[in-house]
Amino acid sequence: MSESVETLLERARQFVHEVLIPREAELLHNDWPIIEPLLDELRAQARARGLWAPFLSREHGGAGLSLEQFARLSEVLGWSPFGHYVCNCQAPDVGNMELLHQFGTAEQQAQWFVPLSRGEIRSCFAMTEPDNAGSDPTRLSTRAVRDGNEYVITGHKWFTSSADGAAFTIVMAVTNPDAEPHARASQIVVPIPTPGFTLVRNISVMGESGGGWASHAEVRFDEVRVPVTNRLGDEGAGFTLAQERLGPGRIHHCMRWIGICERVFDLMCRRAVSREVSRGERLASKQAVQFWIADSRIEIHAARLMVLDAASRISRDGQRAAREEIAYIKVFVANVLQRVLDRALQAHGALGMTDDTPIAWWFRHERAARIYDGADEVHKSVIARRALAPYLKAANSSS
Ligand SMILES: Cc1cc2nc3c(=O)[nH]c(=O)nc-3n(C[C@H](O)[C@H](O)[C@H](O)COP(=O)(O)OP(=O)(O)OC[C@H]3O[C@@H](n4cnc5c(N)ncnc54)[C@H](O)[C@@H]3O)c2cc1C
Repeated sequence: MSESVETLLERARQFVHEVLIPREAELLHNDWPIIEPLLDELRAQARARGLWAPFLSREHGGAGLSLEQFARLSEVLGWSPFGHYVCNCQAPDVGNMELLHQFGTAEQQAQWFVPLSRGEIRSCFAMTEPDNAGSDPTRLSTRAVRDGNEYVITGHKWFTSSADGAAFTIVMAVTNPDAEPHARASQIVVPIPTPGFTLVRNISVMGESGGGWASHAEVRFDEVRVPVTNRLGDEGAGFTLAQERLGPGRIHHCMRWIGICERVFDLMCRRAVSREVSRGERLASKQAVQFWIADSRIEIHAARLMVLDAASRISRDGQRAAREEIAYIKVFVANVLQRVLDRALQAHGALGMTDDTPIAWWFRHERAARIYDGADEVHKSVIARRALAPYLKAANSSS
């Protein structure tokens, strides 16, 4: 990392430790309408410190970081559950900004990218459907039928994260039902509100329905009409665009997860040296606890190196070439996260189950890491298929 990026990382570290972590309990234990204005204040501070939308170019108000540089920053921000949000680089907006920036027309950029990049609005991404397995995203029922200069969209989606209060959603809908499976869908921007669009509910996830940015909605499109000019890219290019969105998105998530791992590792070590479990003996003296600490240290280190390697492969050769490395990290880091969180929780005993530390909050919220952006098993199938391909070819040609 260059000196200027190291300086930025240090500034971010200070911001997270001195400003965000002290406000954490207040932010985690209140509802969205109460915390949104507090987060707006923190956003102003992040902006003043040059930490705003760091993945965007300076021309667009960001810090102009490369994917690897942003990955490093993502880890630093991951120490706080709100680190990414206050720096306007939170999912799903970050992916939507990248999409609009890369594939949006000048008009689409003026209408949606610019206010999003300034943090004036929020957005969401509606692809997954309750009635179809999201693991095979070509099985979509949502249709966008052309009627003159408009699309008429009908469908049912869920897990549209952050739809509550969003100014628009990008919906994945079938526009070309007779094309081959990967060329059937398009991504279309639907402003919210538009007649026919309904937010049915914020789904209760692990006991919390949440609100605003921190929620996952079930939504319906009942003959929603939008201009054809709201389509991103070519008709039928929805999956190609989705791949573009998901590659860097997985790097961002993985490095955020590593930030969470480091934070709860820190909490686990502090607890280990301070908790006396029998007279004169602290948790840290127990071999079981030492093993949790050692295993976590090793796994976090390996995870970081793997993610940085995948990020540099994407930058060097493009996402298609890095597909396998992206699959490795999506599985590996999500599982490291789950194990490290579990050990940290166990080390805290009953305290780990409470919301007096952020461990239980992350334990609930980040279980989803092994499901969203492709479940573990789907990525493992891709890896195994590629590994087996030459063996199958050889076996088939010799038989
Ligand atoms: C917290 C959270 C946020 C989300 N946010 C969004 C969002 O903003 N927008 C959006 O569109 N979607 C979102 N999703 C949805 C997410 O992308 C899907 O849940 C995911 O793609 C899996 O689809 P599914 O839930 O339909 O599971 P299914 O496809 O029904 O799969 C169920 C399980 O079956 C197994 N499985 C699936 N395929 C295979 C296979 N080939 N081999 C072996 N086992 C397999 C896996 O274990 C998988 O977990 C979110 C999900 C969560 C949990």
